[in-house]
Amino acid sequence: MVGSVAYADGQFDDARYNIALVQTFAMAGGNTLNYAKVTDFLRGANGKASGVVVKDQLSEDTFSVKAKAIINATGPFSDSIRRLANPTLERRMRPSKGSHILLPLEVFPTEDALLIPKTVDGRVVFAIPWGGRLLVGTTEEEVAPDAEVLVTKADVAYLLQHINQYLEQPVTPNEIVSGFAGLRPLVGSTGDGDTKTLARDDVIEMDPTSGLISIMGGKWTTHRAMAEDTVHCAQQVLGMPQMDSQTRNHILYGGEGFTDDYWKKICREYQVSEGTARHLAAKFGTASGKVLELTIEAPALLRFLWEVARSGRKSSMRFGLRWRLLSRTFLLAGSACSFTRGKIVSRLPHWSVH
Ligand SMILES: Cc1cc2nc3c(=O)[nH]c(=O)nc-3n(C[C@H](O)[C@H](O)[C@H](O)COP(=O)(O)OP(=O)(O)OC[C@H]3O[C@@H](n4cnc5c(N)ncnc54)[C@H](O)[C@@H]3O)c2cc1C
Repeated sequence: MVGSVAYADGQFDDARYNIALVQTFAMAGGNTLNYAKVTDFLRGANGKASGVVVKDQLSEDTFSVKAKAIINATGPFSDSIRRLANPTLERRMRPSKGSHILLPLEVFPTEDALLIPKTVDGRVVFAIPWGGRLLVGTTEEEVAPDAEVLVTKADVAYLLQHINQYLEQPVTPNEIVSGFAGLRPLVGSTGDGDTKTLARDDVIEMDPTSGLISIMGGKWTTHRAMAEDTVHCAQQVLGMPQMDSQTRNHILYGGEGFTDDYWKKICREYQVSEGTARHLAAKFGTASGKVLELTIEAPALLRFLWEVARSGRKSSMRFGLRWRLLSRTFLLAGSACSFTRGKIVSRLPHWSVH
């Protein structure tokens, strides 16, 4: 052996983390809306954007929201909002699709990750034990922002071609348990090369014509710094003094009072198994009790679910958000809630548990 490399990285559950961010924002006094699509801008006498026109994607109602400063944080879709505010702006986004597949852990039985640092096309491919499966990723393909984001046969062939070089027993597509794909919000300019050569840096733009602030690009790992810089930009637009940001040390919902052995407290207080307690602690932190209490408060939950089912999930926006959070909770609470969920859902007409 000539040498070796030690490589360290972090891992997390991005869907849960995203919901924790929404909950943290709401706890701090923010108003949140989902199923709410910005379709146009309101404009003041000076031509600058003074609000947005929003279409409720469930009821199809349209309403407007006025604002002194508007921040566009729509990731890979940023250009559509920028150009809605000012059609003369050049496109900046170069969305790049990345696909992952999940394999049974038995194909690579280890607690360590495998990193292929340089593929034939100059990329990085990894295989990481994750959630009881082996996560293999990723591909890199530039796509249009409105492209359907699916794991294709070509993506599967690419990932298996690379991982199979390191496995005693090559894996076939039939062994794939599941897969998922997403759009990386990369920023570039026309004429730049391949998206894999584009930096994952973020860019803040304040369009002088519309006054719209856009935060583009970036990564999960840099999201707090991105938020801090964007708020400073908004303060500048509003003519406010730049305040010290609290973002860096702000504890997210479910993080207050968390310790590595918090699962023991869950075991003690709710008499659940160690596996369930560890799972809940990892997903919900100190908010785990709220999830478990849902199973105890099943009658109230049943009434709520019934209302949602009866209204066809088409009532108010806030209701929509609650439903979404709740349905995610069901999915992610996994073993802790599955029994109760089965009981509740099977009592709703025409519903089944999958
Ligand atoms: C394959 C892949 C690998 C990644 N790897 C890493 C990594 O290794 N490390 C890391 O830190 N990060 C990683 N990321 C994260 C990535 O870099 C970004 O940080 C993240 O995906 C972008 O989040 P976002 O909120 O900007 O965009 P999105 O999550 O795409 O959110 C954009 C939102 O804007 C909304 N929207 C669009 N149009 C409108 C409209 N008209 N009105 C209202 N809302 C609208 C959409 O509905 C969507 O909810 C990866 C992402 C992918 C896809």
